[in-house]
Amino acid sequence: MKWYKKLHWQIIIGLILGLLWGLLASVTGLNEFTSDYIKPFGTIFIAMLKLIAMPLVLVSLVVGVTSLNDTTKLSRMGFKTVSIYAVTTVFAITIGLVAVNVIQPGKTLPAETTATLQESYSESVDDRSATAELVQNRGPLDFIVDIVPENFFAAASNNSSMLQVVFVAILLGIGIIQIGGKKAQTLVDVFDAFNDVIIRIVELIMLTAPYGVFALMASLIIDLAGDDLSQAMELLYALGWYCLTVIIALILHVFIVYASLFKVMSDMKLSTFFRAIQPAMLLGFSTSSSSATLPVTMERVEKNLGVEDEVASFVLPIGATVNMDGTSLYQAVAAVFIAQALGMDLTIAQQLMIVLTATAASIGAAGVPGAGIVMLVIVLEAIQVPTAGIALILGVDRILDMCRTTVNITGDAAVSVAVASSEGRLGAPNLDD
Ligand code: ASP
Repeated sequence: MKWYKKLHWQIIIGLILGLLWGLLASVTGLNEFTSDYIKPFGTIFIAMLKLIAMPLVLVSLVVGVTSLNDTTKLSRMGFKTVSIYAVTTVFAITIGLVAVNVIQPGKTLPAETTATLQESYSESVDDRSATAELVQNRGPLDFIVDIVPENFFAAASNNSSMLQVVFVAILLGIGIIQIGGKKAQTLVDVFDAFNDVIIRIVELIMLTAPYGVFALMASLIIDLAGDDLSQAMELLYALGWYCLTVIIALILHVFIVYASLFKVMSDMKLSTFFRAIQPAMLLGFSTSSSSATLPVTMERVEKNLGVEDEVASFVLPIGATVNMDGTSLYQAVAAVFIAQALGMDLTIAQQLMIVLTATAASIGAAGVPGAGIVMLVIVLEAIQVPTAGIALILGVDRILDMCRTTVNITGDAAVSVAVASSEGRLGAPNLDD
């Protein structure tokens, strides 16, 4: 197959052309045309992915759980999955903390810039603080209470309550395993067939990905440039070190932690892994949403990485909602950066507190754009750093959101390979497309 016919190249071309179009549009005054006639296609593309995400989580998890037809196998794999997720998250936060303490990006920020930025973003900070206040005025065990929905249909009608659907799907799967016999088999067959249909729909949606990504990138650039291109550039420059710290730490995490995970738990080469998973990474980068990318992650992991269906459909939906290495790493860097910029030196106890709260905050963050920065307020409150400091980093958050989401997705896929390999359920990778 010619290179330009391969989907991942088409997505890369769409991404680059979208960036170029966005820049061209902001200099030539085509902003309105872009937001009226190009942006909607990006919106439709994301809507289609989100549309399929909820049924996919439900159906694939039921299939995943029932295929582990005895509950001992299920709890062994569940334990393995959750443990690796927790360990990689703690490593991510540690790498973030080391990077931000070594590079110290916050100390390079001039005091006047801090003041100006705080002022200009005060409104958005209030919005986010209000959301965080809602989250904070709750009991310590409320996050567990939240996992159990009172009404399944209400949960399934809201993409941000994915964890509740995960809960129902696992319960349903266990119920099916326990009744056993012919009735159970009929149900398994129905869910299985439904799963194939959903995967087919995902493939169809993916055919439009290059156009969707083009539209998303073009509209992102015109939004960023907004009314004042020079202000946007100045902000990017002032926060360059901070971004660089997050990006360096994310790269280190991928190459240290995932590479070690493969060394210990499977013999897959990192390069093979990247080639197979690339379209999902690119999509995570352009949508900033783990949930929206889930269908594609699932397809690549099963078809191209050789992870057996039952492992992928168990590990990935849970990962897309609870495992966010990129987000937790970013929250650690952001929290320390804000403290540094406001002239505060954090104690070891405060840094340990970051490890705890960033783990919880990344588990609680939904797989949608911007979720990580909302949850960051909880980390800041825990270490007594003024939440208004978020104003400093809001302007560049979207760019870092794209990067951290890419790592979130990569992490889920890497763990699915590790779990599959340790369970003897990893086939040969297929790198044809
Ligand atoms: N956008 C991220 C995701 O979907 C969450 C975050 O904001 O960090 O994985």
